[in-house]
Amino acid sequence: PTAARHEDAMSIKVSSPNVKYDDANITTKYSFQDTAVNVVRNADGTTEYQAQPVSSEYQFKTGRKVPKTGLMMIGWGGNNGTTLTASVLANRHNISWHNKEGVQTPNFYGSLVRASTIRLGHDAQTGKDVYVPFGSVLPTVHPNDLVLGGWDISGMTIDAATTRAKVLDYDLQRQLVSYTSSMKPLPSVYYPDFIAANQGERADNVLPGNDKQAHLEQLRADIRNFKAQNGLEQTIVVWTANTERYSQIIPGVNDTADNLMQAIKDSHAEVSPSTLFVVACILENAPYINGAPQNTFVPGCIELAERHRAFIGGDDLKTGQTRFKTALAEMLVNAGIKPLSIASYNHLGNNDGANLSVPQTFQSKELSKRGVVDDLVESNGLLYPRAGKKGLPGKEIDHCIVIKYLPAVGDGKVAMDDYYSELTLGGRNRIMVSNICEDSLLATPILMDLVLLAELMTRITYTDSQSGDADSYQTMYSIMSLLSFSLKAPLAKKGRDAVNAISRQRNGLANFMKALIGLPPNDDVAISDRIW
Ligand code: NAD
Repeated sequence: PTAARHEDAMSIKVSSPNVKYDDANITTKYSFQDTAVNVVRNADGTTEYQAQPVSSEYQFKTGRKVPKTGLMMIGWGGNNGTTLTASVLANRHNISWHNKEGVQTPNFYGSLVRASTIRLGHDAQTGKDVYVPFGSVLPTVHPNDLVLGGWDISGMTIDAATTRAKVLDYDLQRQLVSYTSSMKPLPSVYYPDFIAANQGERADNVLPGNDKQAHLEQLRADIRNFKAQNGLEQTIVVWTANTERYSQIIPGVNDTADNLMQAIKDSHAEVSPSTLFVVACILENAPYINGAPQNTFVPGCIELAERHRAFIGGDDLKTGQTRFKTALAEMLVNAGIKPLSIASYNHLGNNDGANLSVPQTFQSKELSKRGVVDDLVESNGLLYPRAGKKGLPGKEIDHCIVIKYLPAVGDGKVAMDDYYSELTLGGRNRIMVSNICEDSLLATPILMDLVLLAELMTRITYTDSQSGDADSYQTMYSIMSLLSFSLKAPLAKKGRDAVNAISRQRNGLANFMKALIGLPPNDDVAISDRIW
């Protein structure tokens, strides 16, 4: 038996002249409202903001048929890879197990798509808010239906790798063995220089040689074979392998798409395993998500994705400390309180921690954790008058990140944060937070969300032509920035700032989902509560 699915028990039907349903698609005409602002600096030193409401009209088509979808994990045998596998299998087969709390049953807690709700509107009779499961707004792949596979430089089968990970209760591990003992990761690309030397001892499942072009061809063949063997219509690939060091960006090597392809042919030393994977995915039209902080998406890689209209998303999962930070810092700054410093300490004892214990990989993580309050600083020129001036963003809040490897705590990462803020009349406020993360159990539902949302993005097309001719519809932009709620250092379109503030990220995604079914965004004005 499989666990009940909420979409079997409910459905949403929008009736509006701007929304059309047919068997294949939901088509909507939609008008986005915003304000265009001209900032005029007057000679007398004053500033005038000349604001004008503007609207932009689009038509969207969202495919209603959910394709048979595969998920290939790079780093399948790691803590996140094995835990995600367990989560899908436990839910799919409705496995219950015992721990010291009693009988446990599987669920998708921690998943935006499967365990959170959004406000659809108000009850037509009572005026009260009506909420629906996030995943019921549009058809999304059910995680139970994902076909699982992937690569790892460690050749352990998934049952043994699950034991190695020390994340799950033993009784659950035991019941999964019959499914996981036959799951074995494909050999992967291993260039030792990109991750910590302490990972060398598990690297017993690697593609031979140093010919990067041959490696690329092999990865492409792996994706094609996986699709063919499982009869898949779509395959999403996620990097949940070790954090790599940053690649150097070298003109003539990885700065353009053509140079990057040539650098692969030349087996250039600065082409990382993760960049090789994303190039394989772009060429095989498989959406790719980077769940780790390294700069996989070098400029040449982004250009290649744009050229092929392929989907990419990243970087780094927003799970514990950073998720809290982008909520708390947003609250403080939006309340007019001025954070002066944020000190973030972590210690963790899993293999991710071992890998992050060398400076090169730590630096990747530090960079992805550090930038997350920049957009808040930029948003408030009253608290941070120098924000936006050349060279200053990121320097307004003293922000330090420390990560230490402490094997004893295993996957139970401890994050401790000190938020030190300035109050009125010279006052000071200190908020100290301790967050025990159960790292992989936080990360797994987030990885799953990224997969489900990436698949959804591939079924959306839009046009800005008013006639709505079938030929004028095109796919969304390559960088899936709507996934940013789940990402620590969201990639953004060139020239645009990433949004880190968590409520803006969630509203952006939820309102876009509503737009795709022709409903207005939540504005929280609740006008009928405010007037007589
Ligand atoms: P892990 O070390 O347990 O797993 C990583 C796996 O990747 C290992 O099995 C390793 O053998 C494999 N691997 C290394 N290089 C590879 C390659 N080139 N090809 C294929 N496999 C390779 O780590 P984890 O705890 O599962 O975390 C995975 C990644 O997710 C890390 O980069 C981590 O920084 C990132 N991340 C985790 C969290 C979290 O909360 N768990 C949050 C944000 C980001």
